[in-house]
Order: sequence, then structure tokens, then C-alpha cells
Amino acid sequence: MGRVFVAGSINMDVVATADRHPKVGETVAGRQVLYFPGGKGANQAVAASRLGAGTTLIGRLGKDSFGAELRTFLGDQGIDLGYVVETAEAHTGTAIITVAEADNTIVVIPGANGLVGADDVEVVPLLAGDVAVSQFEIPLPSIAAFFQRARAAGAVTVLNPAPAQKMSGELLALVDILVLNETELGFLAGVDLSDSDEAARIIGAARQLQVREDQTICVTLGKRGVLALAGREEITVPGRAVKAIDTTGAGDCFVGALAAQIADDAPLRTALAFANAAASISVQRMGAGPSMPTAAEVKAVLG
Ligand code: ATP
Repeated sequence: MGRVFVAGSINMDVVATADRHPKVGETVAGRQVLYFPGGKGANQAVAASRLGAGTTLIGRLGKDSFGAELRTFLGDQGIDLGYVVETAEAHTGTAIITVAEADNTIVVIPGANGLVGADDVEVVPLLAGDVAVSQFEIPLPSIAAFFQRARAAGAVTVLNPAPAQKMSGELLALVDILVLNETELGFLAGVDLSDSDEAARIIGAARQLQVREDQTICVTLGKRGVLALAGREEITVPGRAVKAIDTTGAGDCFVGALAAQIADDAPLRTALAFANAAASISVQRMGAGPSMPTAAEVKAVLG
């Protein structure tokens, strides 16, 4: 079994819950304020580790109380933190999240995450069969350096290009499995998919992003499940009917679970169905990191 190495962001999520979202310029009374460990990198590492994969996180924290709390939480999840560096040059990354009507808005202040450099990722002991995972909350040149290192070692690279931003063809060519939602797909492919849940349009847009024939483009569709283009093969995994209370981190749960399955040598279809089930559990719980399920919970759902 390979290991999962996640190079990415580590944040404290400060969550305000309310009955509805404020309009621009409006103030609404909230119900609660909650503090959750978050950041796409940390969330995906927690998901992979809870599901039983040996997991190493690579990233940066500030020398502050949020940083200390996050290190304790992530260590308690069994994640190897030997490549998480504390820096005095910035505060720990922080996300301000509002949750209302089973939906969320997020403002992320990157802080120390913006200082993750190529030197942080190039020292990581990746081996053949390992899985290297990243997202767009650390500098893109550092992701490219990480994936170059991973591919040279024979590891599989998984990119979750979120929050969406334009990326070079060189970076895309370093990706074995691209996992993104419809909004990110529309942005990167330059297509408006907002009015369409038509599989053919989604697959068409995914095809535009493929720069190598052996690449997998995996599009998450919220409660509608997942559509993947694996080389030329199309794979559909329907969504699971559950009562969602907080979708924060659903995508992260999906990516971490997929990485854990690939590291465990699972076939792609099996890995996608497993990740879809794992993410459907996470939306039934509050928060991001702490909402990630265990392997036993996912197996119980899959039957
Ligand atoms: P987020 O940004 O909220 O973390 P995302 O936009 O990156 O999520 P989604 O496509 O919304 O990603 O969700 C990822 C996966 O989570 C879906 O493919 C599905 O497996 C699962 N999922 C999300 N929402 C639901 C839901 N309401 N019911 C069941 N499964 C869900």
C-alpha cells in the first residue's frame, strides 16, 4: 500500500451559522460561532488518514495559537507532520465561513499557506505507488515542483484546482487525476455549464482539459454524484440520497478518499464509488475536517 502525500493549505475555519445568508451590505443575526480545523490540504489529509491511508502533510503554519491548535488536531488524526513548517513571517491561514440554508460562503486569508515554497515540497520522500495530492491554496510553482518530484519517483499525481484559477499547460501535463466541480470545470474549460446538467456537455468540457491520453478528469456534481473521463472511458457514479446539513469540505472528503483508494491500488471505478459514498457521509455533519468518515462508516454505507 502506498502513502498519500498532501501538499496544501492548513487553515482555521471560523464558522458563523445563521438562518439565511446576508445580502451584500446587509447584517443578519447569527446563531453560533464555531472553530473548525480546515484548509483544503489539511481536510484532504484528514480524509485520507481517517480512511486508513498512511498520510503525510506538507505545508506551513504561523507561530500563533491557531497554528498550535491545528498541529495538535492534525497529529491526533495520525497524520505525519514532519514536513509542516512554522513560520514567523505570516499568521496561520484563516477562513471565514457562513453556513445557512444547507449552503456556504467562504473568504480565505492564506497567510502562511502563501509561503509554501518549492524547497518545502522537493525534500518529500515520495516512492513509486504513492499518491501526491495538491490544491490551489498554495503557490502554483510549488505544486509544479511537487508533482515533478512525484512523477520522477513514479507516484500518481492528483490535483484539485480549487479555488479555480488559470493554470499553465505545463502544470496540467503533470497531473494524472484532475478532480474538480462543475464551476471549476466551466472556468478552466472556458465553457458556461451553469444551466446544464447534461452529461454530454460536462464530458465535452472535460475532454477539452485532457492534455494527455492517459489522464483522468473527474467532475464532482454535488448531490448528483460524479462523472469521470478516464482516458476515453466515461464513468458515471450517481449521487447518494442523503439529508445534507453542511456541504463544507464535501469536495475535500472526495479527493482525500479517492487518493486513499488509489494508494491502496483500488480500480478507478471502485475508488470513485468509495469516494462518492465517503463524501455523502461528510455532508450530513457540520464542519470540514471533523466531518470526514472512517473506512468502517463508508463500508457500512456501501453494504
Ligand atoms: P465543497 O466546495 O462544498 O466542498 P465541491 O463543490 O468541491 O464541494 P461537490 O461536487 O459539491 O464538491 O461535492 C463533492 C462530492 O460530495 C459529490 O461528488 C458527492 O459525492 C458528494 N456530495 C456533495 N453534496 C452532496 C449531497 N447533497 N448529497 C450526497 N452527496 C453529496
